[in-house]
Amino acid sequence: MNQKNLDLCKGLVKSSYIDQATQATSQYNKLVESLLTQRRLPDQGWSDKVIELFLEQVSMMDSNNFVENIGVGEREGRVFSGLVQKRHYGLSHGIGRSGDINEQQPKAAGSSLIQKLTNYLVLDAMKIAGFESDTIPSCLVLPMATGMTLALTMATLAQQKPQAKYVLWPRIDQKSCLKSIATAGLVPVPIENIVVGDLIKTNMDAIQEKISQLGRENILCIFSTTSCFAPRAPDDIVSISKLCKQENIAHIINNAYGIQDSKIVHNINQSCRQGRVDAFIQSTDKNFMVPVGGAIVASPNKDFIQAIGKNYPGRANGSPILDLFITLLSMGKDIWKTLLDSRKSLLPYFTESLTTLAKEFNERLLDTVSENKISFGITLSNLKTSTPPSLIGSKLFSRSCSGSRVIDLSSNKKNTVANIEFNNYGSHTDHYPPGSYLTIACAIGIEKQEIDIFIQRLRLVLKKELS
Ligand SMILES: *Cc1c(COP(=O)(O)O)cnc(C)c1O
Repeated sequence: MNQKNLDLCKGLVKSSYIDQATQATSQYNKLVESLLTQRRLPDQGWSDKVIELFLEQVSMMDSNNFVENIGVGEREGRVFSGLVQKRHYGLSHGIGRSGDINEQQPKAAGSSLIQKLTNYLVLDAMKIAGFESDTIPSCLVLPMATGMTLALTMATLAQQKPQAKYVLWPRIDQKSCLKSIATAGLVPVPIENIVVGDLIKTNMDAIQEKISQLGRENILCIFSTTSCFAPRAPDDIVSISKLCKQENIAHIINNAYGIQDSKIVHNINQSCRQGRVDAFIQSTDKNFMVPVGGAIVASPNKDFIQAIGKNYPGRANGSPILDLFITLLSMGKDIWKTLLDSRKSLLPYFTESLTTLAKEFNERLLDTVSENKISFGITLSNLKTSTPPSLIGSKLFSRSCSGSRVIDLSSNKKNTVANIEFNNYGSHTDHYPPGSYLTIACAIGIEKQEIDIFIQRLRLVLKKELS
């Protein structure tokens, strides 16, 4: 309530009570003022009630919610279902204008405000996670998941170098990566990785060779990947960035869930400082615990971010942005830091528990944890002959453990993805000497108790299936 209405209340309720209530209201207003002026995560997260109040107020700024509004256009933010209306806090105009996803929408001052604020909050969250100001002067949150955002980013790059069709792509066996290149109308050129001990690593020599072979003028970019399933290591993005700078080739980093790993963040900073990075893309759900549906594209080059925004055809749904906005306000700086810290500190606990368990069954933890700080694996070398490796995965799933993956290398298999044939698809390499394995991730939000229960269940499964 504004001051005038509060004063009017004094005609109905004791004025000392109203004064007290006014003070409480002003605490809420201070939180909002601080958000609008600082444009950072609140030190402590806001309560749900405060967030809802703010959203209801912001929602009243969109024309479909104006008290006296009559809409006579073809798109007036009408929403038939009360449930849908509630689910979106009455924000139905989406974001952007037809010419630019990042542009303010005249019919929707409230939605535009949320979009702007979300970009600021994400920037702040990423800086808290370790990104430097020069690495990330601006970012754009898009309501598409990582693969589509990668495709839009590469399609935007392609406008600047239309004759270049090739994307050099150190192999990562995650279908969306490869499909994003094909969707952008480009030609993926897989670079086979090298196996060093248990680790699968970037083959810099092969990249260099491919550049000479294809000609740098025909190569649109190198597409590297940071966060990935073990035993693949994050790509050597610092070397790739230096090479890209030297060869004048663009560089896109797929950083799907890398915000949560300070080592990856550090390497992205180094890459931007010492070499060439055109953009790095990360998933909202994998880093910020929101439903699937968004991605963040960031770049040391503000103009490129703008070009991507302008290349998005039409408006977009605002929900993934709203989810992130609510989440970041609710988390606040303290919980965001706690989540990052606790993931990091649970990693040694998780890998040690797994090492002990593996030993019980004469298996071992793959020696990859020094490089890949999110995903890791154990060998499956001693399965009963009657047990196909994939059975371990399905047994875990039926014991309500999701997210682990089994890579069956017991026989050589060929798979075709986006018209390219791969040997042993899923394992990031044609030939992996340690053989079949199981991967698991220590990802943001995981709790110690979940690790303990998983280890118990895995023990039960292995007891039955190992000889
Ligand atoms: C999750 C993931 C993707 C694809 O992400 P979507 O958000 O599903 O499009 C791409 N690459 C890697 C490495 C991933 O982990």
